[in-house]
Amino acid sequence: MSGERTLKTAADLLAAGLIDDGTVHETEAVARRYAVAVTPAIAALIDPADPADPIARQFLPSSAELVTLPQERDDPIGDRPHTPVKGIVHRYPDRVLFKAVHVCPVYCRFCFRREMVGPDGDGTLAPTEMEAAFAYIAAHPEIWEVILTGGDPLILSPRRLAEIMRGLAAIDHVRIVRFHTRVPVANPDNIDADLIAALKESGKTLWVALHANHPRELTPQARDACARLVDAGIAMVSQSVLLKGVNDDPTVLGALMRAFVESRIKPYYLHHPDLAPGTGHFRMDIGEGQAIVAALRGHVSGLCQPAYVLDIPGGHGKAPLGPDAVAPGPDGCWSVSDYRGGLHVWPPRP
Ligand code: SF4
Repeated sequence: MSGERTLKTAADLLAAGLIDDGTVHETEAVARRYAVAVTPAIAALIDPADPADPIARQFLPSSAELVTLPQERDDPIGDRPHTPVKGIVHRYPDRVLFKAVHVCPVYCRFCFRREMVGPDGDGTLAPTEMEAAFAYIAAHPEIWEVILTGGDPLILSPRRLAEIMRGLAAIDHVRIVRFHTRVPVANPDNIDADLIAALKESGKTLWVALHANHPRELTPQARDACARLVDAGIAMVSQSVLLKGVNDDPTVLGALMRAFVESRIKPYYLHHPDLAPGTGHFRMDIGEGQAIVAALRGHVSGLCQPAYVLDIPGGHGKAPLGPDAVAPGPDGCWSVSDYRGGLHVWPPRP
């Protein structure tokens, strides 16, 4: 039984039947360290009878999170070195992250910003900090795109979102506003006419990047929520994380990508898991990841192919992880592999 409110404690999860008496203590220990939230829509997707349930693995605390490996770090993708004013990350020339809020509807157990988000995280920007963030964007004409993330921007009320969008509307050189969110999956009813009207206050071209990792997350309700955004003229892309025990299987990953495309969401990024503390149980070797991604090529539509990427620790940005289909060959030719593994010389010999 999942109930109608977000579950935030071990006692909540126990009462909802999502954990049992034997795991309450370890769940409490993890919840003291990292934020927990499971919305009714997500709780309804969890099969408590399945110890390997891929939805439970993403959202229910595990004692494995209490193991921090030496290579793991508080700021795994290096936001802080690129933060000129609170709430802004200016890593690449033409775009900034705008982290207006530091809470999420659900807390992913593999979250790359787990030391910054949550009730004990960096907090929502105060009015003066918000002004400073807008002033920074306005003072940098090279900023073409503003990416609202954090935190999940669509957790904000339509009133707060409309304020932010009016602030961006006043900055001419900002042409694109992108939102990174899990709300259409975690709280699909929140994607309503008021929220969509608020987003459109900016008058800018809008993109929404939906974060989902397993095809079961694309429920009929989630698909309807996405359809409301797309029907309103908002373009959508996906972002997923390649996670051990969740989607590290070409069949599951292919089904996820097809579910996105069926929902008019273009698969965009498939992230290799970042080195966030206590997340080692989700990570595979990059070679294993490349093999899974290679298995999609040719077997599911070209529309369903995401870019497999790694955020280089230290804030150096994203690197495509391939796998490469082409390599230098003899005599200035190239060796090109087809999707079945066959090798071909390009250009073909006359
Ligand atoms: S929605 Fe994103 S920021 Fe929020 S907990 Fe999940 S991964 Fe972290």
